[in-house]
Amino acid sequence: MTPRIGPRTIRRVTPIDLRSDTVTRPTPAMREAMARAEVGDDVYGEDPTVRALEERVAGLLGKEDALFVPSGTQANQIALMLHCQAGDAAFAGEHAHFGLYEAGAAGAFVGAQIHSLGVPLPGPDELRARLFPDLFYYPRPRLVALENTHNHGGGLVYPQERAEALAELAREKGLAVHLDGARLWNAHVASGTPLPKLAAVADTVSVCFSKGLGAPVGSAVAFERARRPDALRYRRRMGGALRQAGILAAAALHALDHHLGELAADHRRARRLAEGLAGLGADPAKTETNIVVFEHPDAAAFVARAAEREVRISAMGPRVVRLTTHRDLDDEAIEAAIERLVGLDP
Ligand SMILES: *Cc1c(COP(=O)(O)O)cnc(C)c1O
Repeated sequence: MTPRIGPRTIRRVTPIDLRSDTVTRPTPAMREAMARAEVGDDVYGEDPTVRALEERVAGLLGKEDALFVPSGTQANQIALMLHCQAGDAAFAGEHAHFGLYEAGAAGAFVGAQIHSLGVPLPGPDELRARLFPDLFYYPRPRLVALENTHNHGGGLVYPQERAEALAELAREKGLAVHLDGARLWNAHVASGTPLPKLAAVADTVSVCFSKGLGAPVGSAVAFERARRPDALRYRRRMGGALRQAGILAAAALHALDHHLGELAADHRRARRLAEGLAGLGADPAKTETNIVVFEHPDAAAFVARAAEREVRISAMGPRVVRLTTHRDLDDEAIEAAIERLVGLDP
């Protein structure tokens, strides 16, 4: 579609941004909640809104405590620091955010090695096949990290029994378990599994407020109360200790109050998108939450052609295309995206 040029006005085609659920803007009501927030210096532990958010998140996840941090990456890396020292090994699913999308933080800051378990959503068999014994010539096996939902895998919800079986084996072998739950809210809404049950597989859990929930900034990492002093130190070390962060925590609290249940609409729209793009290889049956992925021989070229039609999408590696629905896109936008993309043959 090219812009229609009239005698007095230029009508532009509205861009549709399906690159990520991080592109949402705070709503007027959220901005009001931010403006009203009571704040203090959180480095001194004096921001009541940050503390309220941490208690809220810990309660929602059934954990003893939680810490507010600027990003999901930092939440994951603090968790890694809580479990691993330099030279230790952490096992994670294939294409885990932990290992692939955090700019090498595990190596740069922690000195831990990430070992892939070969598939995005590993079970006990995958861990059994790759786990090495705690002998002096191996890295020390310390951690298993799960990702729910799985980002690269297309927003797949971790089958609960599989996650539980993996965690059970990990504990049997003396390993800690971390859950990267940047989109755990989506897993909860899509599966109906209570959040504490989803979180119970892990010792530490990270969650994001700036994805589908629509807050502008922020994540949290949950843990046992006794780990708080360590977590505070690691956050400080990473540069994540903030001052009057209550204005950000207020946005996250507002999102938990008002946006959590609305994720179901994002999931419905993602399925509709997959249905509409079935001809390109999208599969509604494999679209469990708000992410649609399909294979394309030249993902970058497809992304570029979609952009020419004002649909912004992303490539996950050379042959996977990803479209993500979010609360700033309504039914009409999804139908328009389908219309613009259907003509783009593979
Ligand atoms: C987005 C995401 C994160 C955190 O990303 P930030 O951009 O650092 O907030 C962590 N894990 C997964 C699986 C994600 O999708």
